[in-house]
Amino acid sequence: MNEEIKRQIIFVLDDDNEVMTTALGESDLDQENKQMNRELIKKHEAIIAKVETGDRLAKEDLDLIRGANEIHLNDESNVQEHHHQAVALNEWLDRMTELGKEDAMKILEGYLDKDSHTPAKVYRALHTLWEESTPNDVIEPPFDDEGKCLKCGSKVSFADVTDTLVFVADEIVKRYDGDITNRNCIKCTYPKQYPEYEHYDKE
Ligand SMILES: [Zn+2]
Repeated sequence: MNEEIKRQIIFVLDDDNEVMTTALGESDLDQENKQMNRELIKKHEAIIAKVETGDRLAKEDLDLIRGANEIHLNDESNVQEHHHQAVALNEWLDRMTELGKEDAMKILEGYLDKDSHTPAKVYRALHTLWEESTPNDVIEPPFDDEGKCLKCGSKVSFADVTDTLVFVADEIVKRYDGDITNRNCIKCTYPKQYPEYEHYDKE
């Protein structure tokens, strides 16, 4: 680890600890959050000690460093100060962090998403590889641009929608329509419930 990376790690962890310590002094933070802050401050201090003695950093350490570095990475206005070092640290973290299957999948999918002409079969190929590497089939199949399940072709899915409501006291004064989350093909994911909805696929 070079000196510049070392300095930046210590800087981002110290900086985050300072913010959290200040928050601990404010009474509007609830007990649970205060406890979380205290634990995180301790973990950050332990990482700083490891960096100073040259001990090996665990995956969790690298994740915490990445989290603390994020705010400096996003702060492009602060070019003179720490943005440049934050970019260097982020690249270093990328090299140090072992790429899991899920991360690899997200990176590839992110690049495919940039091109609106990526055909559905490319996603399908990617997801087939992913499914083969995850024998217990934990990843739900996604949908093509017509909303059909890429795995089975069914058009019917269950989805959660998270709306944001503005409350004034107990009264809802505004509603922002939310995004769809947790969309699952019924046929693949809830086969027992599928017969109820099967007729939509036949229409
Ligand atoms: Zn399906």
